[in-house]
Amino acid sequence: MAVSDIPDIPDVADVIVVGGGIGGLSAAYALARQGVGEVGAGLQIAPNCTRILDEYGLLDEAKALGVVPEAMVMRDAVDGEELTRLDLVDLERTYGFPYMVIHRSDLHGIFLRACRRAGVELLTDQRVVGYADTGVGARVELADGRVEEATVVIAADGLHSVARRLLVQDEPVSSSYVAYRAAVPIADVGRPVDLSEVVVHVGPRCHFVHYGLRGGEMLNQVAVFESPKALAGVEEWGTPDELDAAFAATADEVRAGIPLMWRDRWWRMFDRDPVMTWVHGRIALLGDAAHPPLQYMAQGAVMAIEDGWVLAEHVARQRSADGAVGWVAALAAYDAVRPEHCRRVLTTARAWGELWHLDGEQRLQRNAILRARDPHDYTFTDWIYGPTALTPKDEPPMYPTIPLDSAALAAAP
Ligand SMILES: Cc1cc2nc3c(=O)[nH]c(=O)nc-3n(C[C@H](O)[C@H](O)[C@H](O)COP(=O)(O)OP(=O)(O)OC[C@H]3O[C@@H](n4cnc5c(N)ncnc54)[C@H](O)[C@@H]3O)c2cc1C
Repeated sequence: MAVSDIPDIPDVADVIVVGGGIGGLSAAYALARQGVGEVGAGLQIAPNCTRILDEYGLLDEAKALGVVPEAMVMRDAVDGEELTRLDLVDLERTYGFPYMVIHRSDLHGIFLRACRRAGVELLTDQRVVGYADTGVGARVELADGRVEEATVVIAADGLHSVARRLLVQDEPVSSSYVAYRAAVPIADVGRPVDLSEVVVHVGPRCHFVHYGLRGGEMLNQVAVFESPKALAGVEEWGTPDELDAAFAATADEVRAGIPLMWRDRWWRMFDRDPVMTWVHGRIALLGDAAHPPLQYMAQGAVMAIEDGWVLAEHVARQRSADGAVGWVAALAAYDAVRPEHCRRVLTTARAWGELWHLDGEQRLQRNAILRARDPHDYTFTDWIYGPTALTPKDEPPMYPTIPLDSAALAAAP
């Protein structure tokens, strides 16, 4: 898509954004405000994202389409016991903006309509096969041989980004975990579910998440597990038989959700090691192209939306009185702040996944630490749910780590 607003160079788009996912669309919208898809289920969006939606004037629409739950509850997947909770009403008071859940296609639709209103030229079915920095701008080469040029190209082309190869020769890293999803009408659920809560059941090598969508008309479920076939090097891994086996020993309320999972499609979970440079001349990576995470922090789409907001803020700061944008400085400011924040999220998501999936004594140690947590203690969320940093000095400190073996376990009877 092209964000065209250079009055003095009418034939060259200001910005080409490659990729029509949430990252690409939200970035195109963010930049359009400064004058210049996937089938899926639910997304959790935290206050560091709803703050930006509010600034864009899109939060009320998101709230009308989604659900603003009252609590996030973590339970043990084996015995169902509650381990800890976040009071989301208090969390909203603390951070000023809600934690909410929304259908992915609804959030996508919100940005699509916003892009149209802002005059973004949207082109579908365009496959970019090459990128080139020209020094004064950037070019993309399309699969049909056409070449498009712009002052800046934002590559929001996802996990398998072509543009990323300009910066690093890496590959997606398999976690051997796989996600099954389901978004089903509440009438089809067949068990009582409290839609005022986002619930995550954490268990040995598996976890299960559920929450309401569309004002409570739908239930969203995500079932994630480690695939024995993946560990054994079998090519066809993460298959439905593995889903059933992974959850066979979980609590009744978890097992009750498994038959509802979609079985014709599953999402093998890959991330990539963090990279600390996302800008190559006039080409910048954004969203999963720059920082695909394991989804345990529920921050992948959120980080993509933050990326676009940060870049657009720096565009605004680098705009001179005659309207020209100091793109080199804006891209440098973006590159100075976002990679470190996203590195923290990526590495925390990996650690969070390990913590969720513990077994044996370590599971009991984790449970003891979580049970001891004060539900109104925000030490572990301040680094992520506060205002998105625009400069490295605004980036809040990380949380303190608690060693597992510091847990006081009750003596065996
Ligand atoms: C099970 C699961 C649950 C998740 N839950 C959450 C959550 O609760 N909260 C959250 O914030 N995140 C969550 N995420 C992560 C989130 O989905 C992603 O991080 C986010 O969608 C990334 O958006 P993106 O636009 O960067 O990439 P994508 O959505 O992958 O979009 C990339 C776009 O680029 C296009 N593209 C690719 N290659 C090319 C090319 N060569 N030329 C042109 N176009 C191209 C694609 O067609 C696509 O439209 C979850 C992920 C999973 C798998």
